[in-house]
Amino acid sequence: MNLILLHTEADGTLSKLSLETLAATIALGAPFSVGIVGENTASAADSIATCGAGKFLTITGPEFGQARYATDAAAAEALIRAVGPDLVTTPATSRWNRVLPGVAHRIGGKVDSHVTGLVMADGKPQATRWFYRQRMEAVFSRSTRPWLLALEGGIAAAWTGAAGTANAEAVSLTVPVSRTSVIGFEAPAADQQTIRPDADLLFVTGAGWTKKQSDGLVKTAEAETLILDFLRLSRSSLGSTKSLVDLGGEGVAVLPFLSHMNQVGQTGSTPRHAKGLSTCCHGEEPHTVGWRFIGERRAISLDANCGWSRGKADILYVADAFAVMEKVNVLLGR
Ligand SMILES: Cc1cc2nc3c(=O)[nH]c(=O)nc-3n(C[C@H](O)[C@H](O)[C@H](O)COP(=O)(O)OP(=O)(O)OC[C@H]3O[C@@H](n4cnc5c(N)ncnc54)[C@H](O)[C@@H]3O)c2cc1C
Repeated sequence: MNLILLHTEADGTLSKLSLETLAATIALGAPFSVGIVGENTASAADSIATCGAGKFLTITGPEFGQARYATDAAAAEALIRAVGPDLVTTPATSRWNRVLPGVAHRIGGKVDSHVTGLVMADGKPQATRWFYRQRMEAVFSRSTRPWLLALEGGIAAAWTGAAGTANAEAVSLTVPVSRTSVIGFEAPAADQQTIRPDADLLFVTGAGWTKKQSDGLVKTAEAETLILDFLRLSRSSLGSTKSLVDLGGEGVAVLPFLSHMNQVGQTGSTPRHAKGLSTCCHGEEPHTVGWRFIGERRAISLDANCGWSRGKADILYVADAFAVMEKVNVLLGR
């Protein structure tokens, strides 16, 4: 028996990642139960009632509507103990990622995070994940049970099926004593949120945007307008080189909407957009290694000898990015 552990979103629904994890769990072909944690869980359970689960178990209450270590860990532990599963699959959300190692310890199991593939081979479950910053991919199995696996997005198409009546069984749990209370959320306005994993395009900015240009002037304000206009018009996700985000810490005037969260590369992120456009960046290996999963790559650089021209990009435009992006924005604005 396997168990898939899910939590509801703020509106009581299940996320796309939850439904992808459900599809990956079903694909294992073993009997499974569903455990759902949330403030209200009934409609979430009913929405996947026909998925083939043997049982639906829920832990419900206002305390479980919010991400908090004490309550999430206690809920996960109680659901796992109620089912006694071999495998426990969860979507790799920040909520589950945070508590799974502790839960595995409490129940004497093992845990693996960032799982990017899960199949049955020779009668055993085999997981795939990357190591050493996406340089090596390993396919592995474990004999310890329960084995907890946090599944990344995109490894299965989201489950679709009819809703029904799940007849979920409520698992009782004494709410653990907690010193943490959630008093609200602070989030940037939607148009200030520049990291968009679901966007079609990754738009990368390099340090060239802040360098002296051919007329001898530094044009940071102009760069800011061009970049923000492009993001607004294209709804792309904003990435950056390390040099550009580091400049802020060195007291140089930089683009205020960039932080280390935007950094792509060896010591940054490895995004997975279908297309990427790099601007004012030299295309050095520690940066371009972060483009490993970008499907179609284009770059705009003044330097015809930059890294992009040496096999890192499909197309390199040797051009002034200020002029190109101004024109692109005019065309997009139409
Ligand atoms: C251990 C280690 C880890 C690192 N990790 C990372 C990492 O995770 N991510 C990362 O990005 N870097 C990383 N680096 C740094 C990396 O090696 C490079 O230094 C960095 O990526 C360079 O950034 P850049 O291309 O923006 O800047 P620069 O090298 O300064 O290049 C700027 C480019 O802009 C071009 N340019 C200027 N004006 C224009 C214009 N008007 N139009 C078009 N082009 C223009 C110039 O021709 C130049 O090619 C790491 C380095 C080390 C040693």
